[in-house]
Amino acid sequence: MKLTVVGLGLIGGSLAKDLRSKGIAKYVIGADKNIDHCKKAQELGTIDEYLPLEEAVKDADLVIVSVPVNATLAVLPKVLDAISEKTVVMDVGSTKSEICKVVENHPKRRNYVANHPIAGTENSGPTAAIDGLFDKKTTIICEEERSDPKAVLLIRVIHEAIGMHVIHMGAEEHDRHIAYVSHLSHVISYVLGKTVLEIEKDETNIFELAGSGFASTARLAKSSPEMWTPIFLQNKKSLLKSVDEYLKNLQDFRDLIANNDADSLFKEIGKINDIRRVLEGLELKRAKGH
Ligand code: NAP
Repeated sequence: MKLTVVGLGLIGGSLAKDLRSKGIAKYVIGADKNIDHCKKAQELGTIDEYLPLEEAVKDADLVIVSVPVNATLAVLPKVLDAISEKTVVMDVGSTKSEICKVVENHPKRRNYVANHPIAGTENSGPTAAIDGLFDKKTTIICEEERSDPKAVLLIRVIHEAIGMHVIHMGAEEHDRHIAYVSHLSHVISYVLGKTVLEIEKDETNIFELAGSGFASTARLAKSSPEMWTPIFLQNKKSLLKSVDEYLKNLQDFRDLIANNDADSLFKEIGKINDIRRVLEGLELKRAKGH
């Protein structure tokens, strides 16, 4: 198939690589507002050529929109305006309600499949694109009833071909769930990074004292503001609810420490250790390829 990727960063580039290596994408066209990213993606062999947006999408079999979620609100309707009747379009945005809303009355809404692959790293741009990023991960298709069943089938088949497990959800349900398991983790990581940076002005000490626990908890704080500012604002309602619940738990945890309440602290940590069951269950599911 002829694939067009709009947004040649981590997710768009990694999808292009996997779809090409599986023999699904025979020719890959790129489009990006950043000309250096277009050149780099071509140099890396991620895309065969790059073109201005309308030209890039008009004859494609599949268009993947992989730009930050605020840019998706502007780019997705333009892509739907420019495509042929046979072209299928999907996005990969980390939020779904606002994106689905912006195209709900578009005449080509049925060509579009709302999608969110749960895979990524803290890196961005064309050099961040890697092979096999999606293997044994999950992708979420939202509002499938609003898309042409053939388009949904295509999106399911290509994701399964690159090793993904496909699930379905409403857009609001997606945003509610993802606030807890992804967006809240990023908020916590940014605030942890901020707290340590403010306290520890001497960066040498951070390097010397920060063990792997800090490194793994603060890893997400390296994620770019271009990507995460619009995600937080688009998912504000659900995210604020999860942040408020987290703040209450943090305050309770703080009080146990302040009160030297060893018994309660011990019991609380023991209960929270149940997270091991959840994480190991996830690992097991992944190892089995679901
Ligand atoms: P990325 O590496 O920063 O790549 C995005 C690319 O899109 C950049 O080249 C950017 O150029 C370009 N761009 C920005 N606005 C544009 C516009 N209006 N038109 C054309 N190109 C534009 O980002 P990413 O991590 O691949 O994320 C892409 C999408 O995947 C987002 O919707 C995100 O929510 C979703 N997602 C991300 C992850 C993750 O872990 N990162 C996981 C799942 C889903 P500039 O850099 O010059 O702005």
